[in-house]
Amino acid sequence: HTHARPAARAGQAGLRIKTVIAVGSGKGGVGKSTVAASLALTLERLGSTVGLMDADVYGPSIPHLLGLEGKPTLEGKQKIQPIRCGQMPVMSMGFLIAPDQAVIWRGPMLHQSITQFLTETAWGELDYLIIDMPPGTGDVALTLSQGAMPIAGAVVVCTPQEVALLDAVKAISMFGTVKIPVAGMVENMSGFVCPDCNKRYDIFGAGGARAKAEELSIPFLGEIPIDPVLRQAGDDGQLADVIRNDARARAPMEKVAQSL
Ligand code: ADP
Repeated sequence: HTHARPAARAGQAGLRIKTVIAVGSGKGGVGKSTVAASLALTLERLGSTVGLMDADVYGPSIPHLLGLEGKPTLEGKQKIQPIRCGQMPVMSMGFLIAPDQAVIWRGPMLHQSITQFLTETAWGELDYLIIDMPPGTGDVALTLSQGAMPIAGAVVVCTPQEVALLDAVKAISMFGTVKIPVAGMVENMSGFVCPDCNKRYDIFGAGGARAKAEELSIPFLGEIPIDPVLRQAGDDGQLADVIRNDARARAPMEKVAQSL
């Protein structure tokens, strides 16, 4: 069970976050940010207090998915005041740079900004902080593993394709190296059910992540089908509205949230 790690260190640091979950992937484009944001919104919907931190500093997509903009401000010259999606506090590099601006940083700057996001944001009291990780490389994972807040578990998102699975296995091994426990795997874009004829088409295949999770003896947290409603919602910055209000679109996320 991933909640097992005590939040004692977080308490010592004066932080009031019970469970930090990192959402990672082996490569980009598998729906990691969509899953991270949807998971945060679903946990909130199920009654928890949740924050969302976009640590994908090179390609921050959380502000776009949630239709958020604004500049985080300093509260009492100490804490960074996050942008809110309804009640949910959200922090992203996307709020601090122009949308077409590239982030070119050396390791120490990356380390510093991630640590600052984590420890100097006025998150308030949270049951969960969901962190959207950059795909692949271990820089941010390494920072998080050394930081003031223990990561309870990493959720690894992949698609059913063999190449994506191979990259996911690398991501799992990377989390192992930096000693972040893996909470489990999620298979995204797992089949498509035709709304007209109800027939299921396994466009990228299906079941690969479940088999891989079994092989690696890590939990399988669930599968999320290809859903044009999710795609449209993300493009339009309406993901929060859709996950909060559309029970059908939310259902696969609920399974993932409940198996955490
Ligand atoms: P990543 O963070 O892994 O790069 P994103 O979350 O940005 O991936 O998703 C990539 C694209 O795929 C986005 O356009 C998103 O809307 C779409 N997408 C993600 N998951 C699904 C899904 N289950 N069904 C349909 N579209 C999806």
